[in-house]
Amino acid sequence: MTVNPELLRASAAHYINGELSIEAVALAEIADAVGTPVYVYSSAMFAAQYHLLTTALAGLPHLLHYAVKANSTLAVMKQFADLGAGFDIVSGGELSRVLAVGGDPAQVVFSGVGKSIEEIDFALKTGIECFNVESADELARISDRAKILRKVAPIALRINPNVDAQTHPYISTGLKENKFGIAQESALALYLDAQADPCIQVRGIACHIGSQIGDPQPLFDALEQLLTLVDTLKSEGIVLTDIDLGGGFGVTYDDEPAFDVTAWGSRVKQRLVDRGLRLSIEPGRFLTANAGVLLTRVEYLKPGEESPQTAHTHTSSKHFAVVDAAMNDLLRPSLYQAWHGVLPVSQHSQGETKSWDIVGPICESGDWLAKDRQLSLSAGDLLCVMSAGAYGSTLSSNYNTRPRAAEVLVNGTAFRLVRRRESLQDLLSTEML
Ligand SMILES: *Cc1c(COP(=O)(O)O)cnc(C)c1O
Repeated sequence: MTVNPELLRASAAHYINGELSIEAVALAEIADAVGTPVYVYSSAMFAAQYHLLTTALAGLPHLLHYAVKANSTLAVMKQFADLGAGFDIVSGGELSRVLAVGGDPAQVVFSGVGKSIEEIDFALKTGIECFNVESADELARISDRAKILRKVAPIALRINPNVDAQTHPYISTGLKENKFGIAQESALALYLDAQADPCIQVRGIACHIGSQIGDPQPLFDALEQLLTLVDTLKSEGIVLTDIDLGGGFGVTYDDEPAFDVTAWGSRVKQRLVDRGLRLSIEPGRFLTANAGVLLTRVEYLKPGEESPQTAHTHTSSKHFAVVDAAMNDLLRPSLYQAWHGVLPVSQHSQGETKSWDIVGPICESGDWLAKDRQLSLSAGDLLCVMSAGAYGSTLSSNYNTRPRAAEVLVNGTAFRLVRRRESLQDLLSTEML
């Protein structure tokens, strides 16, 4: 077994008498009841992660906006709404999910570089807290739409602080070369335009520099740049009420130390005390990644040939375990070469120990979930893909006309289906010949 004890400590999944469980429910029981592949989430861990962050900021006026795109399953969002979170959305679709769970639109910030007219109108009519504006053109469009709808649009400018979040290039967003945010040099002029516009209410300043950030230093650097701008704006007569530092707090997938929210929080509090600014954060991954797993069953084993060692041939052929989950269910390995722990659901399962590649049924060589994992496997065994609660189900697709997986929420000794497996009828129902 190749999983580090740190990951088992960080995850909601743990062994009880050799059976992998979430809270008090054995994962095998869920697989039997619901089938596989299935996402399973821990309600207790969602709450624990939420409290870690809010406790780290205790004493400072703040609001946590849960980044919906990490996991937008309604039951998951409902739990964060009940805990008191607002929401960070990146589409009109996500706004309709907030409304569907009874979330307060006045606690919704709307991020994203490509907000359409329909989305802006929807958000204006709904009365969201703030548009995090990413370009001059977007500001002009929001102003136009507000005028037409006779509304005043609350805005913050999302600044690109040009700091390196030191993360994977695909999830780094705060560098000049990224498409996100407004360059600091352009910010003042844009703020002055916005301040002069009767259809715009200038509220704050925002940034989000990337995801899966381990070292807090880039976040502190970004904070300093934002505070410098806040001071400049003040001297120009523009007084902001809100500062939004985005999300990106890293989690343990393998042996990375989890982001130290307590140390980060005390430093942020130090810098913001007596500033008269309300802090907003937009965590996604931190709240959900290790609260979730993806359960899958081994369909077939394809052990490689153990060819005799000769000087001129490749000797190590691969051993493949073909499972019933695939890149359409969990895209992160294919998209980012992301590493996910894979654990046997039962430690009592027998089988030959080999170094297996865990692959899906999809017709792509990029369809793998994990590589070179030392596991004892037999066909029919259940495997648990760890840390799958963030950017798992939300990135899933119907590629190869595969129905999307079921989702289950565990609470203590009970579990319930919160999203049924898609049917083939669901998949065909939007099409006409
Ligand atoms: C994706 C995103 C987040 C959440 O990022 P995490 O790494 O999941 O915390 C927050 N804010 C914005 C603007 C985003 O695009």
